[in-house]
Amino acid sequence: RSGWLDRLKTGLRKTGSSITTVFTGAQIDDALYEDLETALLMADAGVQATEFLLADLKRRVKDTRATDATQVKALLQDAIADMLAPLEKPLTVGVYHPTVIMVAGVNGAGKTTSIGKLTKHLADAGATVLLAAADTFRAAAREQLAVWADRNQVEIVSQQGADPSAVSFDAVAAGRARDLDVVLVDTAGRLPTQKHLMEELTKIRRVVTKADITAPHEVLLVIDGNTGQNALAQVKAFDDSVQLTGLIVTKLDGTAKGGVLCAIAREKPVPVYFVGVGERLEDLQTFRAREFAQALVG
Ligand code: GDP
Repeated sequence: RSGWLDRLKTGLRKTGSSITTVFTGAQIDDALYEDLETALLMADAGVQATEFLLADLKRRVKDTRATDATQVKALLQDAIADMLAPLEKPLTVGVYHPTVIMVAGVNGAGKTTSIGKLTKHLADAGATVLLAAADTFRAAAREQLAVWADRNQVEIVSQQGADPSAVSFDAVAAGRARDLDVVLVDTAGRLPTQKHLMEELTKIRRVVTKADITAPHEVLLVIDGNTGQNALAQVKAFDDSVQLTGLIVTKLDGTAKGGVLCAIAREKPVPVYFVGVGERLEDLQTFRAREFAQALVG
C-alpha cells in the first residue's frame, strides 16, 4: 500500500516541492500567499480553486492563530483535503445484474489499461465480468482489450467493423442472460471536439439503455493526470454528452502536477473512483483525498 503512495508522491514531487518551497521562509505575509498562489496555478489548480484555497487558508490561519510557515503548510493540506473529500466515492457493483459501466476518454489517456486494471480489481473481488469492445474500428484496440480479457480470464464481446452501439447492446444483453455482475464497455478514444464521435458515444449510451432500462449504471471518464487544465475541459464536455458518474485519473506516478483535481472539485465535481499510479495490473488505487493532498503539498 505504501508503495503506491510513494509513487504518487514521486509523481507529484515537482508540485510538492514548488509548494513546499513557499513555506521555507519563516514569515506568514503577503509574499507567502502570493508565492502560494503562483505555485497552485502552476500546479494546474486553476483560478477558481486557487482563489478559494487562498481565502480558505487565510481563514484557517486566523482561526488557529498559526504563527509559523510549517503550521500554515499543514493547514493548506487540510484545506486541500477538505476540498477534495467530496470527490471520494467507492465504486459499487452488485445492486444491478449486470452493473453496466461505460468507459470513455481521449486517446492515450490510459483507458484500455485502466479497464484491464479495473477488470482485475472486480474479478479479485469475486465479480463475474464481461468486456465489450465498443472500439470496433481500431483492430489494435480490440486486440489490446482481448489481451486484458485473457490475463484476467474474463470473456469479451468483440466484432470487427460492427456498430459500436450494437456490440454494446449485445454485451449488455449477454450480461443479463448470463446474470453476470459487471459489463465493462470500452469505447473508442475520442476528442470532445469530434462532434460525430461524441454523437456516437451518446448513441452507445442510448442503446445500452435499450438493452437494460436501468443502464448504464456508471459512465466513467479516464483522464491523464498530466493533461493539466485541459482535463477539466474534457470532464465538462464528456459530462455534457454522456452524464459522467465518475473519473479515473491516470499517470499520477509520472510527472503529473495533480492540481487539476482541485479545479475539478471546484468547477465540475465528478467523483474520482480510482487513480492510476503505474502500468501494472495492481496500479489502480482508490482515491483518498487526504493522501492525495499530502502528496500534493509535499
Ligand atoms: P488509451 O488510448 O486511453 O486506451 O490508453 P492506453 O491504455 O493504451 O495507455 C496509454 C499509455 O499510458 C500506455 O503506455 C499505458 O501503459 C500508459 N498508462 C496508462 N495508465 C498509466 C498509469 O497510471 N501510469 C503510467 N505510468 N502509465 C500509464
